[in-house]
Amino acid sequence: MHDLHIKVAAVESRLGAVTTTAERNRKAITLLAVSKTRSAAHVQQAAESGIKSFGENYLQEALEKMADLQPLELDWHFIGPIQSNKTRQISENFAWVHSVDRVKIAKRLSDQRPLAMGPLNICMQINIDNEPTKSGFSVEQAVAAALEILVLPNLKLRGLMAIPAAQASIDAQRIPFAKLRELKNRINRSLDNSEKLDTLSMGMSSDLEAAILEQATIVRVGTDIFGPRDTK
Ligand SMILES: *Cc1c(COP(=O)(O)O)cnc(C)c1O
Repeated sequence: MHDLHIKVAAVESRLGAVTTTAERNRKAITLLAVSKTRSAAHVQQAAESGIKSFGENYLQEALEKMADLQPLELDWHFIGPIQSNKTRQISENFAWVHSVDRVKIAKRLSDQRPLAMGPLNICMQINIDNEPTKSGFSVEQAVAAALEILVLPNLKLRGLMAIPAAQASIDAQRIPFAKLRELKNRINRSLDNSEKLDTLSMGMSSDLEAAILEQATIVRVGTDIFGPRDTK
């Protein structure tokens, strides 16, 4: 679809502009296309526009797309809420999980990871604005939880993920992203060099500029690549 290529180009141009402002290298940032509710054909079109990494929230839907698109060798990231009874299939099929919100879930993902696949890359989801409706570790719990997750053999703890509350201005959007950046730095001060976190998964269609100014390394973009979602 012609339209999808134009949308990807528009997102790329935003990334180009903000990385220049932030004096950052575009190559240091992964554009994760959030493809929940989108068809395999749409994912394929995004892949043809040069996107390699896709984020999915619903396991069954994701598994079907993965099967259809296997020859494309895409990187699949699980970014949705995780129920305990879904950890095995998540661990067996994804390269990354961004939404680890309990140590118990991390332990299951580690136990169930097929050894031949190598360690599963994970981010701890942080409830950065302390919203009662959102999952994630609190900032206060995060350092202790990171130390527990770090020792799990079949995971590679890469960093932190957050979905802050919506804000109207870029300055207001930057505040929770800066908090997440500082939390990553705080965790890294308790880690050895070989263990240091290198990932901040933050920023979506409406706040990716603010996130990149605060050192996001993965931005998760759905609407601005694929258009508005049908509400399920
Ligand atoms: C849906 C979703 C996104 C993408 O949001 P858009 O506003 O459509 O860009 C990013 N991250 C998570 C965790 C999501 O569930």
